[in-house]
Amino acid sequence: PHVINRIAAGEVIERPASVVKELLENSVDALATRIEVDISTGGIDLIRISDNGEGMHPDDLLLSVTSHATSKIRSDEDLQKVATMGFRGEALASIASISRFRIRTRRLGLDTGLDTGRELQADGGDVNINRECGCPQGTVIEVHNLFFNTPARRKFLKKPSTEFGRISEQFSKIALANPNLHLVLRHNDKLVYELPATPNQLERIRRFFGSDLGDKLIPVESKATTEAGEEIRLWGFVGDPSFSRGTRKDQYLFLNGRHIQDRSLQHALGEAYRGLLMVGRHPVSFLFLELPPHLVDVNVHPTKTEVRFQDGQSLYRQLLHTLRDKFLSLNF
Ligand code: ADP
Ligand code: MG
Repeated sequence: PHVINRIAAGEVIERPASVVKELLENSVDALATRIEVDISTGGIDLIRISDNGEGMHPDDLLLSVTSHATSKIRSDEDLQKVATMGFRGEALASIASISRFRIRTRRLGLDTGLDTGRELQADGGDVNINRECGCPQGTVIEVHNLFFNTPARRKFLKKPSTEFGRISEQFSKIALANPNLHLVLRHNDKLVYELPATPNQLERIRRFFGSDLGDKLIPVESKATTEAGEEIRLWGFVGDPSFSRGTRKDQYLFLNGRHIQDRSLQHALGEAYRGLLMVGRHPVSFLFLELPPHLVDVNVHPTKTEVRFQDGQSLYRQLLHTLRDKFLSLNF
């Protein structure tokens, strides 16, 4: 299991997009309503995430970026070692140890009794600035020169446009999971997405993919109940069979507000369209699963994209039947 953990955890900060994913999730956890993402050179030069969330207490700041007892990473080998220690609760510390890291944060005065923020800078995990600063409520994190001290890892990066593509994908997943968030993405100072907050999921999808796609989506919804009487809700939008794609890239699945991947449910989706699409074509889908957290293990993989459902077979059937019933009622 150690080897597996190491391989899995080593994948967590594999590229700039992994940093963006971790930082965006933190901002969401901090109840931000507005998040801006600024990227330079595919995230290799700079990743900056600014949120208006609850901020961090000044006393917690140092701890959050130095929680590894030996956080000073000098080599790729060290990075592997740190990775084996597990990752959860270690994202900031890990990112700080492989970059020139800056953070400015301020909590609401009420609970700190302070009316200033705090600023911290670390290079490769060495903290060189930790002081009071003036800043608005929320948190701004800058990650400069990712992998500057782990050359082997840096060497594996693709060209900036490719790395930015991956970042954009991570951004999309957060954006689709949280339509109530105002989100901005810029690359090299150019605006890529500005998504105003909306209570309407379909509107967020349209903003992203254009109303052409929005018009070809069919709403679906179903509720199932477990033996213990707990509710499993499946809802979302799936593509009209007259419209399809050559890849599965636009098949999105969210579990309790987080993007996940699941082969079995992806298969159920394909089965539901069986006979409705030409071979090699795939439906578009935006599906949301809501179920009690104890019915699923999210700690299977450190990036938490793969999960293990307690009763995956029932979910498979629920998805398949929800879509089939819908297609039947529409006479497809
Ligand atoms: P985890 O998210 O698993 O707790 P992280 O290393 O990602 O671990 O973050 C460490 C801690 O730093 C978080 O638990 C949170 O308290 C704090 N934190 C990180 N990012 C933010 C943010 N944007 N706003 C407020 N607090 C944050
Ligand atoms: Mg985190």
